Amino acid sequence: MASCKSSIALNSTDRVGSSHPPRVSGEIHVIIGPMFAGKTTSLLRRIRSERNNGRNVAMIKSSKDTRYAIDSVVTHDGVKFPCWALPDLTSFRHNVGEDAYEKLDVVGIDEAQFFEDLYDFCCKAADTDGKTVILSGLDGDYLRRSFGSVLDIIPLADTVTKLTARCEVCGKKAFFTFRKTAATQTELIGGADLYMPVCRQHYVNGQTVVQTSRIVLESTNVHHQTTQFSSLEAATAAAVLQSQ
Ligand SMILES: [Zn+2]
Repeated sequence: MASCKSSIALNSTDRVGSSHPPRVSGEIHVIIGPMFAGKTTSLLRRIRSERNNGRNVAMIKSSKDTRYAIDSVVTHDGVKFPCWALPDLTSFRHNVGEDAYEKLDVVGIDEAQFFEDLYDFCCKAADTDGKTVILSGLDGDYLRRSFGSVLDIIPLADTVTKLTARCEVCGKKAFFTFRKTAATQTELIGGADLYMPVCRQHYVNGQTVVQTSRIVLESTNVHHQTTQFSSLEAATAAAVLQSQ
């Protein structure tokens, strides 16, 4: 990971002979939480509020996530906002154009866990380009491990907001995302078909069911193909969870 120092040093070099006046510092605000916690809704609310206050805004999302629309950020309940769908953040400045980037006050980033260059982008945008960056993303994956670079941004941030969802099993506050299939890749894009928000108790119960059913299936030497194995396991886990 590049450090802030290197970004600042590079920028200082860039500015030798530049006619641009020094900018005021920007800000970084981070919105995290499990799936279905209203992170995108909260991000859109803040971006709209900034725009209504006369600030120049732009929204970015990952081109990996095409669940709802390619050129819009869309919440689970259907609220839309136009955006740049990009494979990385480094290409944003080029795509939007140098003049338009200069005029931007606020940059929103949705599903920030998908951007590998998140740290460097945020550092430069806020520290040296004077932008306010507001980003939302998953802090943890379905195994509750750090997801992408989102947690790396916390030391850079002005504010961090962790939102909660409602546990789909018991209705209590949900802090975690339970994956309803046995697929093991970290990035598996989906909605309520693949994921559900759960409280701690039902996260632990669900993981136990998944692990137990895997052991049972393996011990009986059932030679399922991966997809059959996954759906059987997931159906078992979901059924047991829902019945609790
Ligand atoms: Zn629960």
